[in-house]
Amino acid sequence: MGLVPTMGALHQGHLSLIKQARQQCSSVVASIFVNPTQFGPSEDFAKYPRTLPSDTEKLENAGVECLFLPEAKEIYPQNYSTYVNVEALSDRLEGRLRPGHFRGVSTVVMKLLQIVQPQFAYFGRKDAQQAAIISRMAKDLNLDSEIVVCPIEREADGLAMSSRNVYLQPSDRQSATVLHRALQAAQLLLQNGTRDALSLQSAMRGVLEEESKAKVDYAEIVDAQTFESLTHINRKAYVLIAAKFGETRLLDNVLVDFSENGQLTTEL
Ligand code: AMP
Repeated sequence: MGLVPTMGALHQGHLSLIKQARQQCSSVVASIFVNPTQFGPSEDFAKYPRTLPSDTEKLENAGVECLFLPEAKEIYPQNYSTYVNVEALSDRLEGRLRPGHFRGVSTVVMKLLQIVQPQFAYFGRKDAQQAAIISRMAKDLNLDSEIVVCPIEREADGLAMSSRNVYLQPSDRQSATVLHRALQAAQLLLQNGTRDALSLQSAMRGVLEEESKAKVDYAEIVDAQTFESLTHINRKAYVLIAAKFGETRLLDNVLVDFSENGQLTTEL
């Protein structure tokens, strides 16, 4: 059995996880739960898009056998007091900007894995730090579920699909493609032999500065396991960008890896 945890407002990104789960598993469970503990007090929990009727239809069409749709009071009953915190990894980058976010994510994913008991659980690389934290948790706590990290699904113009893209004003939607262009610039440098993180960062900054609407939180190169900053890229790494367009925060990344013969590969 495979589990695909989501917060609903389903798009092609979610459906790609389901497709991969269907290829590996004889039955697939999807969950939809807008998890209150991963939202900060000034974040968008109340207005997070909730589109259950169309989500249900998409899941049925995608061949999902079972939809788990818990209520908040079932997941967090009165006097609920146990939380999972993946240390260090949860404090960097997204965790530094969104205190408590990953504690909420790790806790709810732990509970979903305990309840559903899947052999495989599927997560998107779009949220690379989240996927790394869940993989760490599964290893550290000897969980039976294997964590599978799937590629990023993109719109035709390169924007990574996200439930939050619906918040974007039309002009911000256009501006948001700058994230993909900045990552492409970094990818090109890597493919041409640049291994120096500062050079990649300044190339990305150069592209991002062309778009005045982008308020950049970070453009960083990190070790793929620890999420510590790298100055020289000589192991599996992520080139990560987070930026705000109006009130909408978006994330994107390139995965950098090395084959056995030391050949660099990149995946946008
Ligand atoms: P969410 O509903 O935003 O919590 O996302 C549920 C799962 O879908 C997470 O594992 C996300 O990383 C994954 N996901 C979201 N957007 C994409 C995308 N564009 N491509 C692949 N996976 C995605």
